[in-house]
Amino acid sequence: MINFIRNIIAEDLKANKNGGRVHTRFPPEPNGYLHIGHAKSICLNFGLAAESHGLCNLRFDDTNPSKESTEYIESIKSDIKWLGFDWGDGLFYTSDYFEKLYRYAVQLIKKGKAYVCDLSPEEIREYRGTLTEPGKDSPYCKRSAEENLDLFERMRAGEFEEGSRVLRAKIDMSSPNLNMRDPVLYRILRIPHHRTGDKWCIYPMYDYAHCLSDSIEGITHSICTLEFEDHRPLYDWVLDQLNVDCHPQQIEFARLNLNYTVMSKRKLLELVENGHVSGWDDPRMPTLSGLRRRGYTPESIRNFCERIGVAKRDSVVDVALLEHCIREDLNQSAPRVMAVLRPLRVVIDNYPEGKIEELDAPYHPDDPSMGSRKIPFSHVLYIEQEDFLEDPPKKFFRLAPGREVRLRYAYYITCVDVVKDKRTGEVVELHCTYDPETRGGWSRDGRKVKATLHWVSGFHSIPAEVRLYDHLFTKENPNEEKDNIDFKTYLNPNSLEILTSCRVEPVLANATPGSRYQFERIGYFSVDSVDSSDGALVFNRTVTLRDSWTKIAKREKF
Ligand code: ATP
Ligand code: MG
Repeated sequence: MINFIRNIIAEDLKANKNGGRVHTRFPPEPNGYLHIGHAKSICLNFGLAAESHGLCNLRFDDTNPSKESTEYIESIKSDIKWLGFDWGDGLFYTSDYFEKLYRYAVQLIKKGKAYVCDLSPEEIREYRGTLTEPGKDSPYCKRSAEENLDLFERMRAGEFEEGSRVLRAKIDMSSPNLNMRDPVLYRILRIPHHRTGDKWCIYPMYDYAHCLSDSIEGITHSICTLEFEDHRPLYDWVLDQLNVDCHPQQIEFARLNLNYTVMSKRKLLELVENGHVSGWDDPRMPTLSGLRRRGYTPESIRNFCERIGVAKRDSVVDVALLEHCIREDLNQSAPRVMAVLRPLRVVIDNYPEGKIEELDAPYHPDDPSMGSRKIPFSHVLYIEQEDFLEDPPKKFFRLAPGREVRLRYAYYITCVDVVKDKRTGEVVELHCTYDPETRGGWSRDGRKVKATLHWVSGFHSIPAEVRLYDHLFTKENPNEEKDNIDFKTYLNPNSLEILTSCRVEPVLANATPGSRYQFERIGYFSVDSVDSSDGALVFNRTVTLRDSWTKIAKREKF
């Protein structure tokens, strides 16, 4: 699909800009797990590089040791690989450049373009002014280069308290762009770093470190989200002052927002830390590890990222499109099996006790290459509770007293008796008869039935736990923090329903963690890779069968 960044790159290649090179990077801060928004950026950066025979680096933007950890680094690497991208030799850390960045800062000081400022953080804010009022020069901005060099060196040596001094760029305190009002380049932080230990107690700020890291790596197109548009003049200013060989072009695009979802790492961390979810990989989370555990395939996520496109204007994507993408994928690739989530016992009165038949059932209606398996049929079966009503309304065509229905791949059965719990009145068992002339699920005399039910054998089916998920938030936009209402107020109390007495086909005893199935008539499910073990089968519902996207797309004329 055409997008404006592809166009820019195509033009650059035509003009032989950067010697025909395309080199992008994906620069996560290792302060959380990757989410579906990051996937958009990964697909874009790695995708653009691949299309133009270029390179894409993975660079950890690790300049804030207070929030970062190696756990996050490892999860980010494995998520990118899982998504299907490869950084080759291009794995870098901004912390690898701390010495170089320091020397660049010394150059800026020598040129009179940076100074050590002793104002407190509050004072710096005060002096900065507002959108409508210009800022005021810091009383320290006229320090000599010698004094600045001395102070900066001593900042590095650890002579000063955290927060007592910073290094600032000397640009223009009356610039209409607040980012240009002598932004902070370095701060003192007495926090050990997960890679450099306690070697450093001053750390570069994002705006300073990012452009220089891009330049050091020979990046040609530095693609970032829209909120950095106002930072671009600073990006360019730093590189211009330092006369670097490589001056990448920063290009901004709109970040991905999804309805019924929060995407900020701060908020996701809060959900994890406060136990609203079971972890970063909770299947309800929009993280890649959550989506993977839920049963999403990398292909479906890449496909989603391609379909949402790349624009210059912020918008909110309907989560139904993401669901549509995984449904489309699994519709082709997932083997069909039968599972009963809320079992109702059915005794087939005229089927001999102890007799077992092995019925043939294909794994996919349209794909014979997926093969088939045998399903055992016996005297006692389970069907879904909701597939029986003692007193059915007009449009209910499933099982009812006296009514005949088809059991998928098996026989026609007719309900002849209903057993109820004497105390509660609840239906606990049905008695049915089967017609031996309907083996395979079709009648030789052309008799029609109006419903086909899924079922499993009472003796042979195996127990399983099934987890049903719904949106994590009840509100379309939980980020709208109107009237100081916290986003957690909108958490959906019914986002997880656990069913513990499900029965599944015996063939699923060998299902491997992470494998995906369609449970006929119910939805797509995958074997949970964390809580499933030899003794316990746990399934996550990836997505229901019902596609709401097609309807939405029609309404909104996509
Ligand atoms: P947060 O603001 O929640 O902390 P972040 O955007 O700062 O997250 P980073 O680790 O800095 O997280 O992001 C790495 C890259 O992914 C950045 O280039 C960023 O622009 C991009 N990115 C982050 N969120 C999204 C999103 N929702 N859509 C598209 N790209 C995103
Ligand atoms: Mg960031």
